[in-house]
This record gives sequence, C-alpha cells and structure tokens, in this order.
Amino acid sequence: PKEIRLDDVAYTYPNKTSPALHKLSLTLRRGEVVALVGANGAGKSTLVRLLSALTLPTHGTVSWDGTDLAKADAESVWRHVGLVPQKYGHWPLAARENITLGQPHAHDHHDEEVWRAAEEVGMAAVLRELPDELGTLLARSVWGGHELSGGQWQRLACARALYRRPGLLILDEPTSEMDARGEHQLFRSLRRMAADRITLVVTHRLDNVKMADHIIVLDDGGIREQGTFDQLIAQED
Ligand code: ADP
Ligand code: ADP
Repeated sequence: PKEIRLDDVAYTYPNKTSPALHKLSLTLRRGEVVALVGANGAGKSTLVRLLSALTLPTHGTVSWDGTDLAKADAESVWRHVGLVPQKYGHWPLAARENITLGQPHAHDHHDEEVWRAAEEVGMAAVLRELPDELGTLLARSVWGGHELSGGQWQRLACARALYRRPGLLILDEPTSEMDARGEHQLFRSLRRMAADRITLVVTHRLDNVKMADHIIVLDDGGIREQGTFDQLIAQED
C-alpha cells in the first residue's frame, strides 16, 4: 500500500471494559521509516494487529489506500505484510534456508533474491561462509563451530521478511540484540528500501529509533507526541 490510515480508531478487548486504544488517528506512508514507541501496555501490539488486519477495530476505520480493512479479505491483506517478531524464530536449518523456507513460490525465485535480501541486512558474507545442508548449522552452533550471534539471527529474520518484498514491513524490537553498529546498518538498509513499502519499527525505547524519519509515541492507548528524534528530545527540555 501507499498509505495506511487510521481514522478515529478505538479497540477494546472482549474481556475488558477500558479500551486498549482510544480514538486514534494517524497515517503511515510509503517511503518513510516510522517508529512506534511506548512502554509495556501502551498499546503497540494492539496497533500492529489493527494495521495488519489481524484484528478489526471496535470503533473507527483502518484503511489501506482507501480500502476499509473491515471490508477486505484478511488473507489477501496478510500476503502483503512482513512481520519480524521480537523473538526471532529460526529453525535448525542452514542460515540461507531460514530466509526462504515456508515462503510461497520459494522454488520459483532465483538465488539472487536470497542474496539481495541477505545483502540488505549485511549477512551476505556470513551466508557465503556457512554450509547449506539441512541441520548442519544447528550442529555447528551446538558444537560451537559457527555460532551466529543474537544480532545476526535478528538480521536473518529481517532478510526473511524482506525476501517476500512486503508492502507493509513491521519489525518488533529488531535491534534488541544488536550493537550500535548493527542498529545503524539496519536503519540504513530499511531507509534504502523504504521507497517500496511502509516500514514500521516497534520498540519500547526512544533511544533505539534515533534514525527513524518519524516517531509516534504511544502512551496508555493514545498518541502522546510525534516527530523526529530531535524534535521529541527538544520538547522534553
Ligand atoms: P495482489 O494482486 O497484490 O495479490 P490482493 O489480491 O492481495 O492483491 O488484494 C486483494 C485485497 O487485499 C484487496 O481487496 C484489499 O483489501 C487488500 N489490499 C492489498 N493491497 C492493497 C492496497 N494497496 N490497497 C488497498 N487494499 C489492498
Ligand atoms: P504493548 O504492546 O505496548 O505492550 P498491548 O497492545 O499489548 O501493549 O496492550 C495494551 C493494553 O491492552 C494493555 O492494557 C493490555 O493489558 C491489554 N491487552 C493486550 N492484549 C490483551 C488481550 N489479549 N486481552 C485483553 N487485554 C489485552
């Protein structure tokens, strides 16, 4: 999508009386790396579910390029969503297979696509050195030969999402195990690819998203403030 809009959106969980999100309006645009920042319970996960049609709002509308998600076929929306979960999941496979496995039409894709995704997250050199056979990587990480760091696994999880060229890319705490350099590289590559998609980085720490084009701070189910990192810091003085 070019644009995702939330108009007057509220959401109350079925077993709750007070809303997890209340009367929220915002627009996410293709070409920007947007960050969603908020403490535990602020409503970040609920908002992610609404943006990607995993949940429908109890009030207001969420729309993709003007199409109300309440009227859309959820499965065809999901095909355009790339979600990088916080607990990066990886199977006992060669790192390269972690990028392609379970992806629709993976066999039709050329190898170049895998390398393109790996290069974007700075993992191409690592992949080139790793063995390709099923299970070998796990054996190596168990026996200590070729262990990938937590940050490298996070990069692989990003490559996996990028391989599908999603129209909406959502990354949940993508840099929690990366050092400052990894974080810098990830944002650079997200920005380089931002023209093709809507990119949203979700985190509990403002410090993690200094490089985002736009930051939305959620607090207690509402938007507390928005702006660039410098603007938000200036407001606090
Ligand atoms: P594609 O041809 O890319 O596979 P889909 O068949 O997935 O497109 O699109 C079908 C539904 O998905 C639409 O009815 C709409 O609800 C939703 N959808 C996907 N992309 C968009 C978009 N850019 N704008 C609005 N709705 C979209
Ligand atoms: P965050 O992702 O920022 O930690 P959440 O969206 O998970 O915030 O939570 C927002 C509010 O909704 C919190 O008050 C939380 O307790 C509540 N909540 C989250 N998930 C559920 C659920 N499945 N059922 C009931 N309440 C929930």
